[in-house]
Amino acid sequence: PVFEDQTPSPANSDSARDRAGVIHPMTDLQRHDREGPLLITRGDGVMVYDEDGKAYIEGVSGLWSVSLGFAQKRLADAAYRQLMELPSYHLFRHKSHPKAIELAERLLGIAPVPMSKVFFANSGSEANDTAIKLAWYYNNARGRPEKKKIIGRIGGYHGITVASGSLTGLARNHADFDLPLPRFLHADCPSHWRYGLPGESEADYAARLAANLEALILREGPETIAAFFAEPVIGSGGVIVPPRGYFDLIQPLLKKYDILFVADEVICGFGRLGAMFGCQVYGLEPDMIAIAKGLSSGYVPISAVMMNAKIWDACYAQSGKLGVFGHGFTYSGHPVAAAVALEALDLYEEFDIVGNVQRLAPVLQAGVQSLAGHPLVGEARGIGFLGGWELVSDKATKAPFPSPGMVGLMAERHCQARGVILRALGDTLTTAPPLVATADDIARIIAVVGEALDATHADLQAGVTI
Ligand code: PLP
Repeated sequence: PVFEDQTPSPANSDSARDRAGVIHPMTDLQRHDREGPLLITRGDGVMVYDEDGKAYIEGVSGLWSVSLGFAQKRLADAAYRQLMELPSYHLFRHKSHPKAIELAERLLGIAPVPMSKVFFANSGSEANDTAIKLAWYYNNARGRPEKKKIIGRIGGYHGITVASGSLTGLARNHADFDLPLPRFLHADCPSHWRYGLPGESEADYAARLAANLEALILREGPETIAAFFAEPVIGSGGVIVPPRGYFDLIQPLLKKYDILFVADEVICGFGRLGAMFGCQVYGLEPDMIAIAKGLSSGYVPISAVMMNAKIWDACYAQSGKLGVFGHGFTYSGHPVAAAVALEALDLYEEFDIVGNVQRLAPVLQAGVQSLAGHPLVGEARGIGFLGGWELVSDKATKAPFPSPGMVGLMAERHCQARGVILRALGDTLTTAPPLVATADDIARIIAVVGEALDATHADLQAGVTI
């Protein structure tokens, strides 16, 4: 049963043990206590399998991360070799190891704009926290201690730590965690479909957003603003593709007011949009780039911030003055994570992952659009290997559903019952297939989404809720 509470499990079952001990991120904890987990025990290629052996296409690559698919032996072998050679070491106070050096070189070699240095961390949140701290450090180094405010966007997702969570522009990640902290501001959400005025073109909407951003900067005082962060395409906020011309108007403003630009490539990086980086798709020239997820194909935790000469020079000068660059994680540049990331970079090239996405993105996007006419779909959208269907209670007025997230979850559950794991973000059902997916995998995902939307629609008409 998709929506009914599961029958009570024996006290020693994995489900009961999960409920007894595990807190699940981004989960309705009371619903989880009633319904229990979907227990995934194995993966292979684009497929994962649950405890009963039921197969699912992982239509969102885990959490937008397992780009090269599951059970990729080359990644496992790279980890094993490194574990036997040097399983753990660090980069604190002049220590180094070959894999961190090689990975930094490789990343600087493929960076979409010239970058000077790489700082390693373990998660997207830590990478963005680091970029926030570096923006502050940079302005202190320049003798601009008042220039510290950070601008994110409504709908943007940059992580959940105290600083990256403040940068995130989603109420669900702020509520009752007392976020955002002071110093964090949020510019408009770039969804033209949701927030464009009647008859307003994408270009006009982009111009309005740029004007609003400039007004915000002037209201706050440009001398108080350190940095602007953006995902090339918003992921966890519901796959929001920027309106045409948006970044072409935003970037000159940031230059004009001496505001750093940080591109959060945690989802878009490593091929997802059909280029190695989202920056290349939108002509972005950031001062810092945050990467994670696809960097290791999600196999081991690793993230990084790439920074340009401006930021690096400030770090260099400041650490000279203070006697230390006082930032870093125990596992910054962890050798096993770095070894897996290096192998992943090899595989992206050998498998021509960018080429695969370029070839099949039209297939995925045609599939996404094939459901645009469905009565529940307000907007069908996407780019590259990202797709989303924003579900609404009234197609004409775009009115959302009264209890946000419920219908999205119903659609997600109907997909799951049919052997496809997707992710509803609010009421936007999203897909982000592994970048090794084939045309057949994509066709299966789209067919199942169509069935799931029909089933959800039928439920709503029958008054079924969850
Ligand atoms: N930035 C973006 C664009 C993300 O999508 C995410 C996670 O989904 C993060 C940052 C945070 O990454 P992590 O969950 O590894 O901290």
